[in-house]
Amino acid sequence: MGAAVPNFTWVRQETSAKLRVTFSHHDGPRGTLASASPSFTNPTIIFDEEESWTVGAVAGSVDLETVATHEIGHILGLAHATITTGVAMTLA
Ligand SMILES: [Zn+2]
Repeated sequence: MGAAVPNFTWVRQETSAKLRVTFSHHDGPRGTLASASPSFTNPTIIFDEEESWTVGAVAGSVDLETVATHEIGHILGLAHATITTGVAMTLA
């Protein structure tokens, strides 16, 4: 995990987890922020570990909660919106 990832307390629950969330390499800073793999058996969100993640609006960084909300929408089956503002716009 990269140094830019916020300090979370991780709990390993492989047998009862409903959503797998992890950080891994995607394409480096400011490309694809995260990806979601909807699945009934193993839904997964992968955040790009090379982004500068924060919680809240910080110039030059990416708000983890906004991207997580967006990706959870994909897990639930939502597509990108055609509007250019809002959490459902194309982020990743
Ligand atoms: Zn998306």
